[in-house]
Amino acid sequence: MDKIWDVIVVGSGNAALCAALAARAEGSSVLVVEKAPRAMAGGNTQYTAGAMRFAYNGIDDLMPLLADLTDPRLEVTDFGSYTTQRFSDDLLGFNDGRPLSPEQQILIDQSLETMQWLGHQGVKFEPIYSRQSFLKDGRHVFWGGLTLAAAEEGVGLFEAELAALEEKGGEIRFEQAVTGLLVKDGCVTGVTVRNSTGEQVLHARAVILACGGFEASEELRAKYIGPDWAKAKVRGTPHNTGDGLRMAFELGAEMYGFYEGCHATPMDLHMKDYGNLDIPHGERKNYRKISYFLGIMINADAVRFVDEGRDFRNYTYAQFGRAVLEQPGHFAWQIFDAKVDDLLYAEYRFHDAHYVQADTLEDLIPKLEGVNPAGARSTIEAYNQAVMDDVAFDPTIKDGKGTRGLELPKSNWAQKLDTGPFKAYPVTGGITFTYGGVKLGQEGQILRPDGSAIDGLFACGEMVGGVFYNGYPGGSGLTSGAVFGRIAGRGAAAQAKGA
Ligand SMILES: Cc1cc2nc3c(=O)[nH]c(=O)nc-3n(C[C@H](O)[C@H](O)[C@H](O)COP(=O)(O)OP(=O)(O)OC[C@H]3O[C@@H](n4cnc5c(N)ncnc54)[C@H](O)[C@@H]3O)c2cc1C
Repeated sequence: MDKIWDVIVVGSGNAALCAALAARAEGSSVLVVEKAPRAMAGGNTQYTAGAMRFAYNGIDDLMPLLADLTDPRLEVTDFGSYTTQRFSDDLLGFNDGRPLSPEQQILIDQSLETMQWLGHQGVKFEPIYSRQSFLKDGRHVFWGGLTLAAAEEGVGLFEAELAALEEKGGEIRFEQAVTGLLVKDGCVTGVTVRNSTGEQVLHARAVILACGGFEASEELRAKYIGPDWAKAKVRGTPHNTGDGLRMAFELGAEMYGFYEGCHATPMDLHMKDYGNLDIPHGERKNYRKISYFLGIMINADAVRFVDEGRDFRNYTYAQFGRAVLEQPGHFAWQIFDAKVDDLLYAEYRFHDAHYVQADTLEDLIPKLEGVNPAGARSTIEAYNQAVMDDVAFDPTIKDGKGTRGLELPKSNWAQKLDTGPFKAYPVTGGITFTYGGVKLGQEGQILRPDGSAIDGLFACGEMVGGVFYNGYPGGSGLTSGAVFGRIAGRGAAAQAKGA
């Protein structure tokens, strides 16, 4: 008789491993099956900076999570707080008038306890000094509510979770693409996998689908998000092709959430089509180009198309990828002058960053390939004339230093482009992950449109619908994966006990 696992988890990203750890903690035997080889396991999680957003009341909530309590900067850091109310407001800001969804409420309410739980699994965190704080009067001031990242970023998170799972007796198998679900008497009883030896059947009392969204499927992107999206660069893994969603729909799961939405950021126009794991993890985010709030962006018609300073970049970067992708030719140029050169994120100094440079604007403009030069001159001139000279520039706050009289304003951090050398970076839109998914019951089971649960089938991570709508406060994806992973793991373990 073939082995029957209590719980099989499909995928090995953050959500999957949290689910596996939670099921294991309930005494379940757990097998994780991953489509990719070992080096590419961990899905999008491996590509992340490991940043995790959660509600906290002050430094006392942060200290127990930190890897290095001897860091001298801790003495001169203002972490502030990030209340559940602020987390709610941040999510509501992207809901286009919708109230908080039940999934968003769960994410907010369980974010801190889930971080503490991760800490108990051996995951350590570090303050994100480089990208989430500014030095002000000798103190490090955090500004956006996103304060900690896993030590060693997404790779560190993945490796710490995997080590914890293996230490606790969970098993993982690589290069096993799940192709279908086994069903007996209406209950999911296992999976079929494709591996180097062909097709194999694996039996389980409960199955958790944690195998990502459909961001790496050109066909599904075009179908659900729109035809422009066939052209998008994929920032992470090539393996999240919507397999889990397809399998769930075949069993009657409800399509739930914002299928036309996705997380997408401005990316180097000349990056590869997918994320690059061949470079060290600290460099993987460097194809992203999100310091646009310090300059302006213009498209092929030489016009600006977003308010680059609308808000802190944590609240715009996941939307502006779409804005860039939807421009003619799917590209834009980001233009900066020397005054902000030191403030640009490290990704702008990355050895593989593409840019053009000139001492004067007159010499820079002809180098903006694909852009009408006369239009570029007049757009920059109009912008420069509109910049408020009477307000001080301060990147640590929304400084209100905007433009006056432009049809499309820049609301904060507007400075004249007047100091050479000037630099311009060509960008396109890169998709990070998709927002549409399935509807879950309270224990993480996948529901049908009539509200009934598909017996034995659970989901978590990018597959959960209803968490994000028309935008995303940075660092919420990993937290969502951990929160719903933990719920699904416990739910599946309970199902296995009762099966
Ligand atoms: C470049 C980049 C940077 C990011 N930075 C951050 C950040 O700093 N903070 C944050 O919160 N979020 C970030 N995100 C978003 C974050 O990665 C996702 O929200 C999160 O990792 C999703 O976790 P997951 O476990 O659902 O999916 P994944 O981590 O993508 O895991 C899904 C896994 O399923 C596997 N799989 C797919 N199909 C099958 C199949 N048929 N059979 C078996 N296995 C399968 C895949 O190979 C993959 O390993 C970033 C994403 C990218 C791409």
